Amino acid sequence: MDFILATKNPNKLKEMQRILMPLGISVKCEADFDFPFDEVEENGTTFEENALLKARSASVQSGLPAIADDSGLCVDALDGEPGVYSARYSDEGTDEANNIKLLSRLSDVEDDMRTARFVCSVCCYFSEDNYFFVNGKCEGKIAKEAHGNGGFGYDPLFIVGDLSFAEMTAEQKDECSHRGEAMRLLCDKLKEVLK
Ligand code: IMP
Repeated sequence: MDFILATKNPNKLKEMQRILMPLGISVKCEADFDFPFDEVEENGTTFEENALLKARSASVQSGLPAIADDSGLCVDALDGEPGVYSARYSDEGTDEANNIKLLSRLSDVEDDMRTARFVCSVCCYFSEDNYFFVNGKCEGKIAKEAHGNGGFGYDPLFIVGDLSFAEMTAEQKDECSHRGEAMRLLCDKLKEVLK
C-alpha cells in the first residue's frame, strides 16, 4: 500500500520509510509528483489540529492516504510556550534565534522549575470520515546553556536524564523521543488497521 508523507524534511521521510517498509507500506513524498502541492496554513491551536490539516491537504492533493506529524516543545514555566509556535517562536524563526529567545524567557527560572516536554501528534488520514491520531511525548528539562552539536531545533537545550537530545546518538534519541514513541504507536495501529 502507498502512503504520502506530508513533510519537506528528508530526515523524517527516511525515518518513516525505514519504520513502515516492514509493514509493506511504501512512503511517497511531494517530490514524487510532477506538480507542486499547495502550501498548508498551519493555523491549528493544537498539535493534532495541525497534523490533521497537513495530512488532509496531502491526501486530497495526491489521492493517497496520508501521514503527517506536528510537534513542538511545551515549557511549564511559560504556560506551555512555545507549543504549536515552536518553529516560529522568534521573529527570525531560526533554531539559533528560537533557542536564544527560550533561554532569555527562562533566565530567572530556577533548575527545578525548568520542566518541559516535547510532544508529537501523528495523523493517519484515509478519508474525511476515516482518520486517527497517535501521540508521543518526552519529559525533560531546559538547560541553562546549549549542550552538544547534534540534532536540530531545541535539541541542545532539552535534557533527558544526563544528556541533551543534541548529545545523544540517533538511536538513543529515537528510544526516548516524542517522535520515536509516536512512530512506534503508529506502527502498532497500522498493523491492526491494515490486517
Ligand atoms: P514540526 O513538527 O516539524 O513542524 O516541528 C516544529 C518545531 O518543533 C521544529 O521546528 C522544532 O523547533 C521543534 N521540534 C520538534 N521536534 C523536535 C526535536 O525532536 N528536537 C528539537 N526540536 C524539535
